[in-house]
Amino acid sequence: MKLVLATGNKGKLREFRQMCEDEVTAFSELLGTLDIVEDGITFAQNALIKARTIYEKLGDDFLVISDDSGISLPVLDGAPGIYSARYAGEEASDKENLYKLIEVLREKGLKSTPAYYTAAIAIVSRYGEYVVHGWMHGDVIDAPRGDKGFGYDPIFIPKGFDKTLGELDADVKAEISHRSKALALAKPIIRMLKNKS
Ligand code: IMP
Repeated sequence: MKLVLATGNKGKLREFRQMCEDEVTAFSELLGTLDIVEDGITFAQNALIKARTIYEKLGDDFLVISDDSGISLPVLDGAPGIYSARYAGEEASDKENLYKLIEVLREKGLKSTPAYYTAAIAIVSRYGEYVVHGWMHGDVIDAPRGDKGFGYDPIFIPKGFDKTLGELDADVKAEISHRSKALALAKPIIRMLKNKS
């Protein structure tokens, strides 16, 4: 079974490829661009919507994994949360979303406040559907630092560090991230499903 990643996000794809021993194909290499309506109300629901949509198009020779993720701030009652990719508007870029959050922090006079990333990874194959989660806690600050990572990484300082994910090496992020923690749970499931086929 070929492993296909149901994401068009280059940052996610790069991180999955860095963290997976298996070869990971982006769905766009097989299907081109697709507009998937993510109308779930949880990360898990949206991850399943993406993985199911691609699986239904590719057929049962494929094992499809997807990642739905985002950043949540308790001070904003969990926002942007599942809306992280569209915080500044439907078609907003990562940079626009980042600056929107910075603007909100500045409006509230917050130089730093707790935040956490969530990743839900869904796995869909002919043997069934699975969802696992991972989290990374830290603080967000009101000015970007560094250009590594993607999305909100230039303002996110993981717990126990004094640098943002924009400043820390990709290897460090791969050790501690929400995505790597979810992937650590997903890997044995992927291995089990591959061994069945
Ligand atoms: P999704 O593609 O609908 O799951 O949206 C994910 C969005 O959450 C991204 O566009 C980023 O804004 C944000 N996000 C998720 N994971 C990360 C990360 O590891 N670093 C920075 N931003 C992230």
